Amino acid sequence: MTDVDAIVVGAGFSGLYTLHRLRELGLSAVVLERGSGVGGTWYWNRYPGARCDIESIDYCYSFSRELLEEWEWTERYATQPEILRYLEHVADRFDLRRDIRLGTTVTAATWEHEHWAVETDAGDTLTAQHLVLAVGNLTAVKRPDFAGLEEFEGDWYHTARWPGEGVDLRGRRVAVIGTGSTGIQAIPRIAAQAEHLVVFQRTPNYSMPAVNRPLDPAELRDAVAGYDERRRRARESDAGVPIAPPERAALDATPDERRAAYETGWRRGGINALSNAFTDLFTDAEANRTAQEFARSRIREVVRDPVVAEALCPSHTIGTKRTCVDIGYFETYNRENVELVDVRRSPIEAITARGVATADAEHPVDVIVFAIGFDAMTGALLEIDIRGRDGLALRDAWEAGPRTLLGVATAGFPNMFIVTGPGSPSVLSNMVVSIEQHVDWIADCIAHLRERGVAWIEAGEDAQDAWVEHVAALADATLYPEATSWYLGANIPGKPRVFMPYVAGCGAYRRECDEVAARGYEGFVLGTREAQATTGRRA
Ligand SMILES: Cc1cc2nc3c(=O)[nH]c(=O)nc-3n(C[C@H](O)[C@H](O)[C@H](O)COP(=O)(O)OP(=O)(O)OC[C@H]3O[C@@H](n4cnc5c(N)ncnc54)[C@H](O)[C@@H]3O)c2cc1C
Repeated sequence: MTDVDAIVVGAGFSGLYTLHRLRELGLSAVVLERGSGVGGTWYWNRYPGARCDIESIDYCYSFSRELLEEWEWTERYATQPEILRYLEHVADRFDLRRDIRLGTTVTAATWEHEHWAVETDAGDTLTAQHLVLAVGNLTAVKRPDFAGLEEFEGDWYHTARWPGEGVDLRGRRVAVIGTGSTGIQAIPRIAAQAEHLVVFQRTPNYSMPAVNRPLDPAELRDAVAGYDERRRRARESDAGVPIAPPERAALDATPDERRAAYETGWRRGGINALSNAFTDLFTDAEANRTAQEFARSRIREVVRDPVVAEALCPSHTIGTKRTCVDIGYFETYNRENVELVDVRRSPIEAITARGVATADAEHPVDVIVFAIGFDAMTGALLEIDIRGRDGLALRDAWEAGPRTLLGVATAGFPNMFIVTGPGSPSVLSNMVVSIEQHVDWIADCIAHLRERGVAWIEAGEDAQDAWVEHVAALADATLYPEATSWYLGANIPGKPRVFMPYVAGCGAYRRECDEVAARGYEGFVLGTREAQATTGRRA
C-alpha cells in the first residue's frame, strides 16, 4: 500500500489541473510545492511589468464552463497579480488546497517495489504509485555567476525571485542585466521609477508591440459564449492560439504586399504579430529576412539615437528565439535617464563594490536586477535526484540531453509522467493549452491502467529513440536550431546542445499523442503486478 495513488510536484497551472483531474478519477493525490503559495510561474515572477504575452482570454483553463463564466479578465494581457489571483481562485474554487503541501521541496524520488518513494527537504518520505512532475519549464533560475557579486554593496535581485512586497527604486541608480522577455517587460517600468537605469544587453531581441488595452466586459462575454469553438481552434493551431494560419509564402508576395501584411500584424500586436504573416518564415531564411527587416525598421523609427537604435537591432532569425512582447520597450531608450551598454562590444568583467565593471568603464549603481532567465525545460527536473529502475539516475539517462517519448515519459522511469516535458511543443505554444492537453492525456492513461489492473507503464526504448529522432528531424527542417537559444540549452554553460521542443505545433502533436493512446499506448511498455511486461501494440 502506498500513502497516496499519485504525487504531483508543483502547484502551477499544471499541478493544479493534474490534482483536479486525478481526483475526478477517484484517485488520492498530494501536490508538493516549494513556494509558500500556489501559482508557479505567477507566484515567483513578481518583477515590475510581469504579465502574460498570450491574450488572457486564451491563457486560462478551459476545463470548466463555470470558471470561464465567473472570471473576468480586465486586460488583453493580464498582469502577474491578476493571473496569480486567478490561480488562487482556481485552488479555492475546486477545493484543491487540502491536498497541497506548500513550502515543500522534493529533493529525491526513487522507484522501488513498483512504487515511487518521494523525499522532501523536510526529511519526509511519501509513497505513491504514480509520480507526476509538474515542475515547469521556466522554474530553475539561472544563478548570476559574475565574478565579484559578493563584493557588491548595493542590493541585487533575480527577476524570478522578486520580493512580494516590491522594491522601491525611486531615486536609485539601477542596472538591468538581460534583455530577454523578462528584461523587455521590466525595463520600461524600472526606467519610469529609477533615477538612472543602465541596461546591459548581450543579445538584442525582437519584440512585438503588445497593443494592450482594458478588456471590454461585452467583448469578454462574447468570447466566453463562443469559447468551445475558440478553444478548438487554439488546440488545432500550431501555437495554441485561435488565429487563422497563414496561407501564403512571403516569397510569393510582392514587397508591398509583404509590408502590408507585416503592418497589419504589427497593428494587431502580440507574439505572433509578424510570425503568423506567412507560411515560410520558419523554413526559408530569405523569407524570414523580410520579417526581420520590417522589425528592425520599426526599431529605427522609434529610437531617436541612431547608434542606440543599431545596438538594439537584432540580427538573428526572427521567431527562432522566444519572441518578446512589450509595452513601450524601445521608446524607453529615448528617455534621458536610460543608457544602453552593449556587452558584446564591452563585456561585463566583474561586479564591483560600487557597480558593474565592463571592459570600458565602471557603471556605479545602487541596485542590480538580473533578468538572466532559467535553466529551461530540464533544470527543475534534474534538480531532483530521480532514480528509476535499477537505480538509474535521470541525470545519467539524460547526460547527453533529454530523451522522452511524447515529452511525457522517459525509458527506465515507470509511472513517471512529465507535464510539458522536452519533446513536447510546450514552450513554443500557449502553455495552458499544452498543459490541459498533457494533463488530460496523463489522466486518461492512468485511468486506462487502473481499469485494466496494469501496475506500471514506461516509455519503450525503441519508441523513445524514434520520438527523439522525430523531434530532431522536425526541428532540423526549420530555422529554429540555428539560433543560440534556451530552446537549445545555449544559455547554460555545459548544457548539452539539444533542441528540446517539438516544432510541428500543438494540433499535430495532439494527434500524435491521441494515436498512441488509441493504439493501446503503442511504444510504451505496460507491466502487470506479477511483473510481466507487455508492449503497447504497434499498428
Ligand atoms: C515571466 C514569465 C512569463 C510567462 N508568460 C507566459 C505567457 O504569456 N504564455 C505562456 O504560454 N507561457 C508563459 N510563461 C511560461 C509559464 O511558465 C507557463 O505558461 C505556465 O505558467 C507553466 O505552468 P506549470 O505549472 O507547468 O509550471 P510552473 O508555473 O513553473 O510551476 C511549477 C511549480 O513547481 C514547483 N517546483 C519545481 N520543482 C520543485 C521541487 N523540486 N519541489 C517542489 N516544488 C517544485 C515550482 O516552485 C513551481 O511553483 C511565462 C513564464 C515566465 C517565467
